[in-house]
Amino acid sequence: MKKRYSVFAIAKEAARHHLGWERAWAAPSPKPKYDAIIVGAGGHGLATAYYLGKNHGLRNVAILEKGWLGGGNTGRNTTIIRSNYLQDPSAAIYEKSRSLYETLSQDLNYNIMFSPRGVIMLAQTQAEIRGYQRTAHANALQGVKTEWIEPRRVKELCPIINLDGPRYPVLGGLYQARGGTARHDAVAWGYARACSDMGMDIIQQCEVTGVSTEAGKVTGVTTTKGDIACDKLGIVVAGHSSALADMAGFRLPIESVALQALVSEPIKPAMDVVIMANTVHGYMSQSDKGEMVIGGGTDGFNNYTQRGSFHHIEETVRALVETFPMISRLKMLRQWGGIVDMTGDRSPIISKTPVGGIFVNCGWGTGGFKAIPGSGWAMAELMAKGEPGPLAAEFTVDRFKVGKFIDESVAAGVAH
Ligand SMILES: Cc1cc2nc3c(=O)[nH]c(=O)nc-3n(C[C@H](O)[C@H](O)[C@H](O)COP(=O)(O)OP(=O)(O)OC[C@H]3O[C@@H](n4cnc5c(N)ncnc54)[C@H](O)[C@@H]3O)c2cc1C
Repeated sequence: MKKRYSVFAIAKEAARHHLGWERAWAAPSPKPKYDAIIVGAGGHGLATAYYLGKNHGLRNVAILEKGWLGGGNTGRNTTIIRSNYLQDPSAAIYEKSRSLYETLSQDLNYNIMFSPRGVIMLAQTQAEIRGYQRTAHANALQGVKTEWIEPRRVKELCPIINLDGPRYPVLGGLYQARGGTARHDAVAWGYARACSDMGMDIIQQCEVTGVSTEAGKVTGVTTTKGDIACDKLGIVVAGHSSALADMAGFRLPIESVALQALVSEPIKPAMDVVIMANTVHGYMSQSDKGEMVIGGGTDGFNNYTQRGSFHHIEETVRALVETFPMISRLKMLRQWGGIVDMTGDRSPIISKTPVGGIFVNCGWGTGGFKAIPGSGWAMAELMAKGEPGPLAAEFTVDRFKVGKFIDESVAAGVAH
């Protein structure tokens, strides 16, 4: 059992020169067999393992990661958390997730720095006004607290914004006051520590290179650290989902593309809300360090590059300078990319597969950081019971065969 983090623990460690902190998670070698293996130690994989243990008592679990935990999209995103989606199944799972974020630091005994500072999605065209007002009405029916706000209120909440942009003036916004941000790698680290504390094995630098089956059922995986047997397998690898599905002998309707982001040099506090400008395609918040965190679009072609192309930086910054003229004087510090897993309807897949005992969780695309706790909760229920619970029921892979899409692509515009 790990020692609890608390103000008393910090005081005690300060008194003995911080020599008593223990490792946050263990680094074990793989056992020959587990009840369940999760491939991918991103936020979704780790949260799945955590709720498998916490909600369903399944603890003989390994999480296999080819790189380092949280080194995929989980550690590369712009950390926007919101649940103002249009369709009912989406609002349900994203709101479950957002509400779990509210108390996640206490639940994990790890400060994930959840900051419900408010998210505004700007309406800059007449179509967006109609769209966001419709979403606000849908959210009211779904029990998700959002509101339509007028330009004056946008300016009050974000004084550095330019309401009268040359191309697209700000005409209002969809505001979710309890949306916000969290520290992305702390989310991964907090779940990892809690999983390790439950006796689960997190095995890093362990790439899954093959999936073994017998009579249509999973029996184990081949990895760079040897063969490991399992009764159940959860594939939670974001942009590499199609590659893992291929190893298991089925196909997924996923396209992998690079999505990129950048940060400026740190400046004094200038804005304490998250702004998303979907028409000009850019979004921005300020990190606790003071950097302006800026997100852009996806590359227009499939790739696995984890960096993104330069013209996108130019387009994103150009778009934002219209809305926030002050950023024209900022230096940009660094830029990076992640490989995101896109479905046609821009909604996730949490589903059984054609192979017995194999479950997939993917398709979160450009917006899955906010979904980590809710997705882990739903995926754990699916893996433990073999059938989806109410949160995951609509997100089956079969919806693409029968045409029962959960269309968030047009509704969301920028789906971060
Ligand atoms: C630039 C950018 C900005 C974003 N902004 C936001 C945002 O503001 N808000 C939001 O909600 N979402 C955002 N997202 C999306 C969000 O980051 C992802 O949806 C989410 O992090 C996906 O988490 P994951 O755990 O599924 O995937 P990942 O964190 O990518 O984890 C998957 C893991 O699987 C591992 N893996 C892959 N193949 C194998 C293998 N064969 N064997 C073992 N391990 C393997 C990978 O190494 C990786 O660590 C953004 C993404 C990017 C790239």
